[in-house]
Amino acid sequence: MISQRAQKIKPSPTLGMDAKAKELKAKGIDIINFGVGEPDFDTPEHIKEAAIKALKEGFTKYTPVGGILELKDVIIRKFEVDNNLKYTRDEIIVSCGAKHCLYNVAQALYNPGDEVLIPSPYWVSYPDQVLLNDAIPVYVETSEKDNFILDPAVLKSKITKKTRALILNSPSNPTGSTYDKKTLESIAEIALKSNIYIISDEIYEKLVYDGVEHISIASLDEEVKKKTIVINGLSKSYSMTGWRIGFAAGPKDIIQSMTNIQSQSTSNPTSIAQKAALAALMGPQDFIETMRQEFNARRLYLVDRLNSIFGINCPMPNGAFYAFPNVSRLYGLKTADGKVINSSLDIALYLLEKANIALVHGEPFGSDSHIRLSYALSMANIKQGLDRIDEALSRLY
Ligand SMILES: *Cc1c(COP(=O)(O)O)cnc(C)c1O
Repeated sequence: MISQRAQKIKPSPTLGMDAKAKELKAKGIDIINFGVGEPDFDTPEHIKEAAIKALKEGFTKYTPVGGILELKDVIIRKFEVDNNLKYTRDEIIVSCGAKHCLYNVAQALYNPGDEVLIPSPYWVSYPDQVLLNDAIPVYVETSEKDNFILDPAVLKSKITKKTRALILNSPSNPTGSTYDKKTLESIAEIALKSNIYIISDEIYEKLVYDGVEHISIASLDEEVKKKTIVINGLSKSYSMTGWRIGFAAGPKDIIQSMTNIQSQSTSNPTSIAQKAALAALMGPQDFIETMRQEFNARRLYLVDRLNSIFGINCPMPNGAFYAFPNVSRLYGLKTADGKVINSSLDIALYLLEKANIALVHGEPFGSDSHIRLSYALSMANIKQGLDRIDEALSRLY
């Protein structure tokens, strides 16, 4: 019998949808995939070269569990330059992706029955990682009219004696929203007063638009920094999802505990991937701006087109690479086969079957009124995909 803990969780629905799209594609079906959760750019050449060099030089053995010191040092420099945050080596851990860092934090912090606040809509792995550690996810609703930004008063109302932490994600997957300084200050004040930790997932830090400046909540002041674990990584900024390198920064005791946990599970992240990460953080950064500008052009086109389609209403996201349109006005309509559309999954399956479009329904992100479309696919595919969506939805009656 599988453990009760394992029975509480489900496989990642975003990875699941992506796998389904790839499977259909392999069968020769011309699927346009808006489900992707990774940049469609190749990892820059100088980063790959660094990995090849490491391999050739025989850098293929165990490294220190929490990452090689040179890499920790450039991560420290990154925090200082980008976020105005000062850390020491014992406040940094390198893990097998940001997801792994988040998992390590969950293991290090939660006791059975602890409550963890998760603003909803949320990234799919947060609740399951909480459940896997016998803690309880407590959702804090946000609303579309507030751009899905957490209302500090609502946050306050959810705090109990059992609350252990708040998971923040700015820029957000799936909504693409970003937090401004004033809101972060209000949230930090509540967290400090209630003595809860803030886990701040900043993996999309580099992908912000419309002049938005990314602010790390940990940088507000020393007191907030002491209660915050910042999570970041190379996957999204450098198009390095397959390399599996993420990092976290936070209070020494928590990082030490995360490192102990890592020492008993994965040990160090891959040695050559660490060298590649070193090259990414030390080398030229112009790749990021080129990618960001391309994403920006796609974002503007995608959201504009979505809003012109019958039944879709899409707020303009200012971060990450996702649009999160509301499709609930389509509920109650029928397909040509007479099937009634009643949920985000119905929409996703209808578009998959009748328009060869893959995307992720909103329900696993905490909102059944929405769907998530990634714009990490070529402009040509975005255009053709939207034509298909437009056509398929216009056939509902
Ligand atoms: C992609 C993603 C991650 C995980 O990134 P990895 O470093 O590849 O593990 C974490 N948080 C959010 C919100 C993401 O979208």
